[in-house]
Amino acid sequence: MSEIPYKIYLEEKEMPDRWYNVRADMKKKPAPILNPGTLKPVTLEELSGIFCEELARQELDDTTAYFDIPEEIRSFYKMYRPSPLVRAYCLEKKLDTPAHIYYKFEGNNTSGSHKLNSAIAQAYYAKKQGLKGVTTETGAGQWGTALSMACSYFDLDCQVYMVKVSYEQKPFRREVMRTYGANVTPSPSMNTEVGRKINAEFPGTTGSLGCAISEAVEAAVTQEGYRYVLGSVLSQVLLHQSVIGLETKAALDKYGIKADMIIGCAGGGSNLGGLISPFAGEILRGEASYDIIAVEPASCPSLTRGVYAYDFCDTGKVCPLAKMYTLGSGFIPSANHAGGLRYHGMSSIVSELYDQGLIRATSVEQTSVFEAAEMFARVEGILPAPESSHAIRVAIDEAIKCKKTGEEKNIVFGLTGTGYFDLVAYQKYNDGEMGDYIPTDEELQKSISQMPKVE
Ligand SMILES: *Cc1c(COP(=O)(O)O)cnc(C)c1O
Repeated sequence: MSEIPYKIYLEEKEMPDRWYNVRADMKKKPAPILNPGTLKPVTLEELSGIFCEELARQELDDTTAYFDIPEEIRSFYKMYRPSPLVRAYCLEKKLDTPAHIYYKFEGNNTSGSHKLNSAIAQAYYAKKQGLKGVTTETGAGQWGTALSMACSYFDLDCQVYMVKVSYEQKPFRREVMRTYGANVTPSPSMNTEVGRKINAEFPGTTGSLGCAISEAVEAAVTQEGYRYVLGSVLSQVLLHQSVIGLETKAALDKYGIKADMIIGCAGGGSNLGGLISPFAGEILRGEASYDIIAVEPASCPSLTRGVYAYDFCDTGKVCPLAKMYTLGSGFIPSANHAGGLRYHGMSSIVSELYDQGLIRATSVEQTSVFEAAEMFARVEGILPAPESSHAIRVAIDEAIKCKKTGEEKNIVFGLTGTGYFDLVAYQKYNDGEMGDYIPTDEELQKSISQMPKVE
């Protein structure tokens, strides 16, 4: 076999022209999402009031295996895709492992993460529907940044409700969004009824993601020609992110490499779901087997310590209910948690694959995550996002195990983004001020017990 290069690039013509919907190959499908008012499965009509119609259709479709990627989206993808699959020769050498480590690098665009893959698709469908613009929320700002890039490309108005504490403490992402023409409002604001109410009730509050979602949804449904968009968790987002897995598989196939282990970090589950979709499809069809690992923070352990039940997707309780592994929508990770992946629940697709035992999950503590990030940055030359570094941690641990057993496993992990906007977290780590926090069973029980009761 030919020598494997450091970077396996696909040619433009080898890029996927269809997204893959893994639900089509699942015999037992993820449970339907429910209308939070009626607790009945959401209809296309109801969902189309909040989301763009084509996206609502994708959300509800669990039988169509492939969706053509529209040419306008593919041509945008071509500006930063195909993304490289990198053989981590330097990391292997550092670890002195017989394992072969590969990572799919999604940080090679201005938004700095994989989120652009879905942002551009969502903006495209909004434009195609003739909308004026979209609204969304952002916490730290990765999703807002990706969406503002996508909206500026299609000349759509982009209204971002950014959690006030981030708006004030993380001015850099805010400025990237404004450079792309987005309207960034600190949340809670005085623009919406819910914002005014929260401001009156809690004067001086610095906001929360749940509150920002409620404001963004209100802004979408009260303005003519606007819809709300979301950057993770939803099945439509996993569909768009399948481009990551399809490219990864094509690159591996090009060199005759069979992955043994596939590792991804899991917040809402979109990059992981996208990376593993084609491989999970092979498992579901009985064609191959892979050891797939979802990695989550020990401070927000929805798969490893949550319950599998219907819950609100947002703290504001306005989005549909989804059956998922969750810690309860009222769960807020400890303030000392700096490493991202703070979402209380998990994509219903990832949840169902996990529940069926097709993938496994593990949790890691943030100091060990930053140790892995530091090692990776020093040998591979990329400053990884803290989120991505969860996957790095487990890839390193697995490669070290191979050293003991002598196995030449092919380990593939998703490097979802870069960490240039996460330097406050790196600073904490470098100053030795980073601690670990693992919630107690009592704390988890408290938010879990407040979940909606749905049979
Ligand atoms: C948002 C984000 C994640 C987590 O989101 P998922 O939906 O779980 O993929 C991971 N890595 C980076 C760099 C992100 O920006």
